[in-house]
Amino acid sequence: MVTYAEEDYLQLSGIQHFAFCRRQWALMVIETVWAENVRTVEGYLMHEHAHDPFFTEKRGDMLVTREMPVFSRSMGVSGKCDVVEFLRDGGGVTLFGREGLWLPRPVEYKRGAPKAATDADRLQLCAQAMCIEEMLLCPRIDVAHLYYGETKRREHVPLTDELRETVRGMYQEMHKHYERRYTPRVKSGKSCKACSLKDVCLPDLPSGKASVHEYLDRQLEDPTR
Ligand code: SF4
Repeated sequence: MVTYAEEDYLQLSGIQHFAFCRRQWALMVIETVWAENVRTVEGYLMHEHAHDPFFTEKRGDMLVTREMPVFSRSMGVSGKCDVVEFLRDGGGVTLFGREGLWLPRPVEYKRGAPKAATDADRLQLCAQAMCIEEMLLCPRIDVAHLYYGETKRREHVPLTDELRETVRGMYQEMHKHYERRYTPRVKSGKSCKACSLKDVCLPDLPSGKASVHEYLDRQLEDPTR
C-alpha cells in the first residue's frame, strides 16, 4: 500500500473544493490565492459554533467529540471532523479512558441546503470516515451525517464503495497536481456564480496557461498588457 509522509499531507477539506472545481482548489492550495464571500464567511461562523476543541460530552450511550483531528497515511491527508459521535456497540473499538466498545460516526456541519448538483459534501464526509477507520482500526462506517444550517436537518449519507473509490481517486489526483504545481485552466460553468474566487480566477487569462501569479506580475510590470 502506498503511504505518504506527514510533510506531504494535503488538507482533507480540500476535496470539497476539488470536487466543486479543480481550478478553485489549485488557486487556493497551489497559488495560495484566497477570497472571502458571504458563503465562506457564513460557513466559518457556523463551524465556530460547531467547534469546541477537544470537548467530549456523554449523552446516554453516545459520546460526542468536537473538532477531532484525523489523518490518513494511505490517502496523504489530515484535517478535523466537526463532530464525531461514538455509539456504544459490542462490535466497536475501545477508547482511551472510556469503558466499553464504541462505533464512530462523523457529522459534518454545512451552511445552506443540500446541494443536488455536487457530491462535494458527501466526499468530504466520506474522507473523514475513512481517516477514522484507518486511525482507530475500527469496522467500516456504513453511514455518516451531514447537517445543513438552512434546513436544520441531518442527511444520512451511505458511505458506499463507489464514494470511497472516488475519494481515493481524487486525493491521488490532488497529490499529482500538487507535485507538479499544476493549476487547471478555467472551465466556466454554473458553479462560477457561487465561487468565492470568481473575482480572482481570471477567466480571461491569456490562453489559460499562465498562473495567476505570473499574470499579476506581468500586470504590475505593464498594466496595458
Ligand atoms: S470562477 Fe469558475 S472556473 Fe474559476 S475557480 Fe471558480 S468555479 Fe472554477
